[in-house]
Amino acid sequence: MDIEGLKASVIGEIDARRHELSELSLKIHANPELGFHEVKAAAWLTQYLVESGFAIKQGICELPTAFRGSYGQGRPAIAILAEYDALPKLGHACGHNLIAACAVGAGVASKPVIDQFGGSILIIGTPAEELGGGKAIMAERGAFADIDMAMLVHPGSHDTATTQALACQALEVEFFGKAAHAASRPETGINALEAMLQSFTAINSLRQHIKDKARIHGIITDGGEAANIVPAHSAGIFLVRAEDETYLENLKQRVINCFSGAATASGARLEYRWGEARYSPLRNNLTLAQVFRRNMQSLRRKVKLFDPSNAFGSTDMGNVSQLVPSIHPIVSIAPKGDSVHSPQFASAAASEAGIQGLLDAAKALAMTVTDLVANPEIVNKIKEEFQQDR
Ligand SMILES: [Zn+2]
Ligand SMILES: [Zn+2]
Repeated sequence: MDIEGLKASVIGEIDARRHELSELSLKIHANPELGFHEVKAAAWLTQYLVESGFAIKQGICELPTAFRGSYGQGRPAIAILAEYDALPKLGHACGHNLIAACAVGAGVASKPVIDQFGGSILIIGTPAEELGGGKAIMAERGAFADIDMAMLVHPGSHDTATTQALACQALEVEFFGKAAHAASRPETGINALEAMLQSFTAINSLRQHIKDKARIHGIITDGGEAANIVPAHSAGIFLVRAEDETYLENLKQRVINCFSGAATASGARLEYRWGEARYSPLRNNLTLAQVFRRNMQSLRRKVKLFDPSNAFGSTDMGNVSQLVPSIHPIVSIAPKGDSVHSPQFASAAASEAGIQGLLDAAKALAMTVTDLVANPEIVNKIKEEFQQDR
């Protein structure tokens, strides 16, 4: 079969599986599980892949809910990544249920293409994208060592073939003071909450003098026990983000200085721990992004290569993109301006538009796999670009 014929059959395969892919994504949506605890989602996804003829390794990289499904052998080895973790209280407000069903759907639809041209398709299940940095851990443990390229389509509120994502690291902070009666003996207390509040003030001042795209934000997780007790303990969680790793390191030190200054001023003792997983900035492979974009456009979606109005955060796909050529396109499932991590987006992730986004993205991914295995020169160009902008 020629390439256009194969692409038509790929589209037909996704359409034929419309109902089961939709069911799979809605089932995950209705059973939200937090990072590293995605037991049901991982079981349903791997079961779907096994029933569709994929070989499965479960619990790879010593992470019980990570998995690797493979079909075919040899190169190119093309990975499509699945995320399936939810957010506390908000459920699937990042739409990872759609990413998961999209990845397995694309993988299954790619099988005839692999049969005809060789190569292999890998569906890699990556837990805990939100805060846990599952892909960062998996990258360190070699999960992406033997693949040629990686793709993941994330839902959002616009169609774009590339994504900007910042380097990011989490910070846990605690202040230890001394309890006292807040009215009768305040002079004997050391106020750990005031130390935390001063830290926020110092960070707010610092924020005026940092680069445009850098971000520092946090919450207080312990602010004391009662209004009549001088807080002996306070705690908070912060995220520090920057456009590149060098500036992130610079910023991390300046953020710690804010906490140290508050410790000195208040007399409270500071303890802090940087999060284990560090999110790298996302490197978009433009050659690969263009191939995906053309396939998405053939499905009558208006896809920009870049969208400067696009909001940006961080993703552990950044860590994968530092190792192998990668793309992380966005498929629109919600009205422009609707933000991920909101209740509205959680509804969109289970809506008709959400399912349509899942199916279109799965088709475009499988069509992209078709282009890649059928045209070794495209694979070479993707690799050349990756080497050149190192
Ligand atoms: Zn998210
Ligand atoms: Zn997400």
